[in-house]
Amino acid sequence: MPETYDIVILGGGPSGLTAGMYASRALIKTILLEKLTPGGQIALTDRVENYPGFPDGINGYDIAQLMEKQAKKFGLEIANTEAKKIEKDGDNFIIKTDSAQYQSRSVIISTGAMPRTLGLSGEVKFTGRGISYCGTCDAPFFKGKEVIVVGGGDTAVEEGLYLTRFAGKVTLVHRRDKLRATPIIQQRAFANQKMRFIWNSTAESILGTDKITGLKIKDVKTGAFKELPGDGIFVFIGYIPNTGFIKELINLDKTGYIITDGEMQTSVKGIFACGDVIRKSLRQLVTACGEGAVAAVNAQHYIEEIKNHHPT
Ligand code: NAP
Repeated sequence: MPETYDIVILGGGPSGLTAGMYASRALIKTILLEKLTPGGQIALTDRVENYPGFPDGINGYDIAQLMEKQAKKFGLEIANTEAKKIEKDGDNFIIKTDSAQYQSRSVIISTGAMPRTLGLSGEVKFTGRGISYCGTCDAPFFKGKEVIVVGGGDTAVEEGLYLTRFAGKVTLVHRRDKLRATPIIQQRAFANQKMRFIWNSTAESILGTDKITGLKIKDVKTGAFKELPGDGIFVFIGYIPNTGFIKELINLDKTGYIITDGEMQTSVKGIFACGDVIRKSLRQLVTACGEGAVAAVNAQHYIEEIKNHHPT
């Protein structure tokens, strides 16, 4: 028989850790399954300066570690494994990993999202060897070098700015003539002497055979091609939600994000979702944590309801 929990949380980013802290603090038998180390995308972020309570900002890895410590303090169990399937079994759910099964009265999905790739030839081969999706992880490899950033959102511009601490020159290539990033971040980037911008251009092919030498881009207005020299290419063009394993069970929007209501309830009663994996308008640490708390409290109400109906 698989071990039975009241709540199984899938994913250990800020929303999952917050849900875990709330549930454990309410003395609900909870386990969090995380395939890597807890922390999620925020752990790869250099500086978080818009999370209340930290007027001087805080390092993303540090706040993730503190969140894990705080959740464990209240007794949250964390297992290093990946959920592959959720099945409904009467009033319970069975969560299957490659090596184990967990039975639970309710589930909170906080599996986040992974970086979108350009889909260019050579991208996989060069990943970790010149192509990167994480400035904080790989920027120190490019001391004094020339790097190219693709994307125009908050991540691209913030990571581009971070890269200027190491690289000699950072060229940001964006497919439109306006950045999507927040104005304050844009202002900082435009004021940075090491950053330059190439507008209305898309990435066409990766240059180099043994190592990256640059990126071939296309001007979408004129159709002209240009070869940009660069030792590294950082790709920040958005994220893809990690929902492949539940797409047959739960309603997703057309881009794969989980649809929830204001209580973080999904289309399946008893399954809640929070964080970057859900459809929403504001993707921030503060919203992820708030949603984690709401999901945990509503999972608790749901469990009480089924226990009242089917006392064991
Ligand atoms: P995003 O906001 O979805 O931006 C993706 C960027 O990549 C856009 O500029 C988009 O261009 C471009 N893009 C998408 N597909 C592309 C393709 N195939 N080729 C070339 N360019 C492509 O993603 P994000 O910047 O990773 O941010 C994700 C979420 O996290 C956002 O809600 C963001 O506000 C939030 N975030 C917040 C902070 C912060 O507050 N400090 C930091 C990081 C992220 P278009 O502009 O033309 O669509």
